[in-house]
Amino acid sequence: MPSATSLDVTAIRKDFPILAQQVYGKPLIYLDNAATSQKPQCVIDTLTRFYKTDNANIHRGVHALSERSTLSYEAARGKVQRFLNAADTREIIFVRGATEAINLVGQTYGRTHVSAGDEIVISAMEHHSNIVPWQMLCEEKGAVLRVIPINDRGELEFDQFEKLLNNRTRLVAVSHVSNALGTINPVRGIIRAAHAWNVPVLIDGAQAVPHMKVDVRSLDCDFYVFSGHKVFGPTGIGVLYGKEKLLEAMPPWQGGGDMIQSVTFGKTTYNDLPYKFEAGTPNIAGVIGLGAAIDYLDQIGMDAIEAHEQELLAYGTRELESITGLRLIGTAREKASVLSFVIEGVHPHDAATILDREGVAVRAGHHCAQPVMERFGVSATTRASLAFYNTTEDIDALVAGIQKVREIFAA
Ligand code: PLP
Repeated sequence: MPSATSLDVTAIRKDFPILAQQVYGKPLIYLDNAATSQKPQCVIDTLTRFYKTDNANIHRGVHALSERSTLSYEAARGKVQRFLNAADTREIIFVRGATEAINLVGQTYGRTHVSAGDEIVISAMEHHSNIVPWQMLCEEKGAVLRVIPINDRGELEFDQFEKLLNNRTRLVAVSHVSNALGTINPVRGIIRAAHAWNVPVLIDGAQAVPHMKVDVRSLDCDFYVFSGHKVFGPTGIGVLYGKEKLLEAMPPWQGGGDMIQSVTFGKTTYNDLPYKFEAGTPNIAGVIGLGAAIDYLDQIGMDAIEAHEQELLAYGTRELESITGLRLIGTAREKASVLSFVIEGVHPHDAATILDREGVAVRAGHHCAQPVMERFGVSATTRASLAFYNTTEDIDALVAGIQKVREIFAA
């Protein structure tokens, strides 16, 4: 069915060769986009072309291949800068993914700014990657982790958040969009409130960047992180955005090649931004592939993507809510395209296994957000997560699969 929004989804799906296959004799319905997204042909071609024609290490070479790969690598940095509307390419650090970006901030900014008795504020809906690095830091420094509670819809309790801020708060780290619930957090208000206390804010944008336009300057966040593989790019590449003033003042994290200006046994001086944080040979092909993914998204338009997904989410929510015995986990008023649910009397893994046999790929488990599961009194959920290449027919296939699950368990 054509989308009522401006996306030509039929044409878009042709850009993703993996979607055209069958599993167990059924057309693949890929609804596991929050775990990782599929790659358009242009990203696959960019990776192949790089290895076929340009592969060389960057920055230090004088030969043609090295110059070409360096140019493509740095051009991709410019694409990320424009994609996030960052002020300067010096603010874009390439890392392995959102997880590594958060650890980098914890181990550099955190270690130099957090002392015994200080506090770090996160939320109750964070992915483990935005919990554990802060716990590790708190343990090392004797600091305290404060957690913003969430309500029964899966929304942050903003008034409680404001009460957590005080003159011991050193950092606020919250997700832009929850991977387990789909909640879109009021990050603009969070940043404003934290800044009133002079507290910097890290936004985990792993689940936001694939679904909506993100403008780090308009948000005024201090750090923003995301992973390439969730935004239709390759695995093993991600981005840390940081305000130049903060990055400049932070000590380097990993030591090695490329992050230095000069090395003697007596003293090493460090390279300028962004290279100070990019020790060793980076994931060159990954960076260039991410650049191709961003070009592709730019061409489609994030506003059109968001509108299409909101339409799908509304349709999916209506359909799932009408199924007897199904409980949606995460019913925030502001949501991105995640449908997490449990079915009465059915283990989420069993539901996902039966759906798989119907060709419907969803995820079951705690989604690396065990505290969220605890908050809602479940051990796991089944999660369907949508991307702009999904359609209402995909949702219909999910619903038909869930009816099959119910029939099997009723028998
Ligand atoms: N943050 C959120 C909200 C996520 O959903 C994920 C992954 O699912 C991550 C961080 C970690 O991303 P990665 O494993 O790509 O580093």
